[in-house]
Amino acid sequence: MDRREFLKLSAIAPVVGSALLLPRVVGARGIPAESMGGRPMGLCYQGPPTGSIASTLKDLFKIGPGPSSSHTVAPIRIASNFRATVAALPVDQLAQAERIEVTLFGSLSATGKGHRTDRALLAGLLGQQPETCDTALMDALQDTTQVRTTQIGGKQFRLSGDTIVWDRGDHAFPYANTLIMRLLAGDGTSIFAREYYSTGGGFYTWKGEPPPDRGQPVHRFGSMTELKQAAAASGLPLHQIMLDNEMAIMGVSEQAVNDHLDLVIDTMDRGVTLGLTEEGLLPGPFAFYRKAKRINEKAVADGGDGFMGELSSFALAVAEGNAAGRLAVTAPTLGSAGTMPAVLYTLNHRLQIPRAAVRQGLMAAGAVGLICKTNASVAGAEMGCQAEIGVASSMAAALLAYATGAPLDVTENAATIALEHHLGMTCDPVGGFVLIPCIERNAFGAVKAYNAWLIAKNEIASQHWEDLDRVIAAMADAGRAMPARLREMGTGGLGVTMVEC
Ligand code: SF4
Repeated sequence: MDRREFLKLSAIAPVVGSALLLPRVVGARGIPAESMGGRPMGLCYQGPPTGSIASTLKDLFKIGPGPSSSHTVAPIRIASNFRATVAALPVDQLAQAERIEVTLFGSLSATGKGHRTDRALLAGLLGQQPETCDTALMDALQDTTQVRTTQIGGKQFRLSGDTIVWDRGDHAFPYANTLIMRLLAGDGTSIFAREYYSTGGGFYTWKGEPPPDRGQPVHRFGSMTELKQAAAASGLPLHQIMLDNEMAIMGVSEQAVNDHLDLVIDTMDRGVTLGLTEEGLLPGPFAFYRKAKRINEKAVADGGDGFMGELSSFALAVAEGNAAGRLAVTAPTLGSAGTMPAVLYTLNHRLQIPRAAVRQGLMAAGAVGLICKTNASVAGAEMGCQAEIGVASSMAAALLAYATGAPLDVTENAATIALEHHLGMTCDPVGGFVLIPCIERNAFGAVKAYNAWLIAKNEIASQHWEDLDRVIAAMADAGRAMPARLREMGTGGLGVTMVEC
């Protein structure tokens, strides 16, 4: 059973037909059906999924150029993978090759121009990597009439705008963001092809990809319920569980994990600092002006009452930089890259939290992001903006809570509250550009995260009904019910109402 089928069957299912029932994990708290006069329509929650998350903090927190992790960062990584695969083909096969063609489907095709997908693919084919990507080259690649050449496996290939084929939006592939890369002979015969899927947050896979050659996690968990059980059984704090797993799966030292977390913290912090100095128009088909600097100045002038404005300005600063194609961190995506840095910047500069505690907060945020990705999605094209800004807000709330010393139950409550109040939010970027509504949504994600933390730390934690796994299951349910046109196609919601007839 694949992940999609599992999600369809597991999260919310009729009680009748017990073949669908999954083992209930002890510790999950729900409202007794009897107290509500029975189960509504015979439906109820079937318990959190069980499993073992094998993705890591390094997988989750990736650095790359904006504006989109699924439409920009993943395509660079995909093109880079294709380039390396082609370079390793047998010499006689490579000798017949004349050109490379990339065909885009779904949201990649519908909104890829606004998300710079074509430029990202060309950059990857030219040998660029997301973390070190030359953003000036990305800007120059806007001119798709220009022909560039690249050497792959000793063979020269010509690349230009016609390397990319914008195919249909609707398709039957298993993932919303699908692209096929082909190596073609002079007569158009396919020599080698690979079907890739961009699965959100800069992650990707391809049809038939073998399981990665990695270590096994020390602590197995597939949900927040299981993570809490692992913490109780081992007596370890959440951040130690995440650290143990990261080192075991990646085969790296604690120092290497901390180095990556520091790079993430510094990139987020720098994104705010830089964004607060910039003004003027952002790239796009309509006049969209930066506002982070102005809002920050006004908020600072307002004194104590201006805190919400300041927090918003931090998020806007990074989101605007991301829209301009700057390097940012997928947290969990680039569309939502401003929400966590706003909270992180507050921890660093306003609350002056020590670096070690911020790193631990980042690990708590990472746990939330990985559980959301595993049991629902972090892709707007799959489950709407609830999966991007909603998850970012949830991660930011966990960061804020854990870095300031909250125990695991309060951290979970903060993450739960933040995600719950984004449920159902659609993805409707105007013109396929990460401008409206994306930039301001980052500010709202940060403000909601802060509010979620305030509620969680001041309530009695054990009296909080909702838990993270139930809210993630609700997000998956809402995401599956969302029509495709409201999932990053640019053909619904504000993507339509903002355009004049
Ligand atoms: S609307 Fe939300 S999910 Fe969609 S592109 Fe913008 S930030 Fe991402």
